[in-house]
Amino acid sequence: MDTLRHTPTDLTAARALLSSSLVWDNHGCMPVARPHDTSFLPQLQRYRAAGVDMATINIGFGDQSIEDHLRTLASMRHWLLAQRADYLLVETADDVERARAEGRLGVSFDIEGVNAIGDQTSLIELYHALGVRWMLLAYNRNNRAGGGCQDDDGGLTPFGRQVIAEMERVGMVLCLSHTGHRTAREAIAVATRPLLFSHSNPSAVHAHPRNIPDDLIRACAATGGVVGINGVGSFLGQVDGRDDISSATFARHVDHVVQLVGPRHVSIALDYVFDLGEIETFLAKMQQTFPPELGYSTKPAFVAPEQLPEIVQALLDRGYREEDLRDILGGNLMRLARTVWKAPARG
Ligand SMILES: [Zn+2]
Repeated sequence: MDTLRHTPTDLTAARALLSSSLVWDNHGCMPVARPHDTSFLPQLQRYRAAGVDMATINIGFGDQSIEDHLRTLASMRHWLLAQRADYLLVETADDVERARAEGRLGVSFDIEGVNAIGDQTSLIELYHALGVRWMLLAYNRNNRAGGGCQDDDGGLTPFGRQVIAEMERVGMVLCLSHTGHRTAREAIAVATRPLLFSHSNPSAVHAHPRNIPDDLIRACAATGGVVGINGVGSFLGQVDGRDDISSATFARHVDHVVQLVGPRHVSIALDYVFDLGEIETFLAKMQQTFPPELGYSTKPAFVAPEQLPEIVQALLDRGYREEDLRDILGGNLMRLARTVWKAPARG
C-alpha cells in the first residue's frame, strides 16, 4: 500500500516547461558572515541542475555592518569572476538572457535592510555598480529608514524617502519584504517605479507578521510590481506541528496571489539557505529579530531548488496555462528588470 500512496508524480511536462523557460529565483542565501569561506558557492550549480537560469543572492541582512556587506560582496564577486565558464555577473536585463543562452547561471545580488548603507545614501550607487539589484528597507526591526514587520512600526522616515529616491535614480528595485506594513504602504505611496515584495507570502494563506495582507499585494501589483513567494517553512504553514515545505503548499501561496492580482505579478524567491549551520546560529543568537514565539524554529526548513518541477507540476495540475507559468517563473522579473534596472553609470 505504501508504494501506491507514494507513486511518483509524472514530472515530464513540468521539467520540459522549466527547461524551455527563463527561470529566475529572486532570493537565495549563501553564508554572509564568513567572507573567507567560499566552500558553499559551488552549490550554486544546484540552481542550474534544477532548471534555474538566474539567481539573486543575498549579501547581508539586518544589523550587519557596511563592512560585512562589502566583504561578502567582494568575496562572491571574486569567486564568480574566476569561474566565467559557469557564471555570469549580471548588470542588465540583456545579461540575464545572455546567461541563459550561454548555459551559464546569471547572478545578481540583494541586500536585506538599509543598515548596509549606514547614514550614507551614496553607498547605494556603489552597491548597484557592484551588481546589487534590489534592497529592502527594514529587516523585521525598525531602522533609520522605517519600521520592521515585527516591530512597532513608526512609518517611513525622511531618510527612508531619500533612500527610495536614490534607488530609483540609480536603477535598483525597491523591495518591501521584512518591512513594517505601515512603512510599506507609505513607501508605495511615494515610490514612482514598480517595486517588489521580493520574498513575502500571503497572510491570507498563513498568518504571520512576515507575510503580507491582500491590500499590500494589490498595492504592489498596482505599481506594476511583483510579489515573490518564498519557501521558508515558518511562512508557508504548519502541518502536524512542523514547518510545511511541501510543493503543494508552496503552490497554494502562488495561487492565492494569482487569484488576487493575476499571474503577471507573482514570482519565485525560494530563500533557500545553503548553510543551515549559519542560519541556526543566527536564529539562536538573534532572538529579537527571530522571536521563538513567532514560530521561528531553531531547526528551520526550506523548500529546495530541486522541488521546482513538483511546484510547476502542482500549478499545471491546477490548470495554469504555460504562458502564465513562464511569467511566474521568470517573465515577470524580466519585465521589472527591463523597466527599473539601469546599467551602472560610467564616467
Ligand atoms: Zn529575508
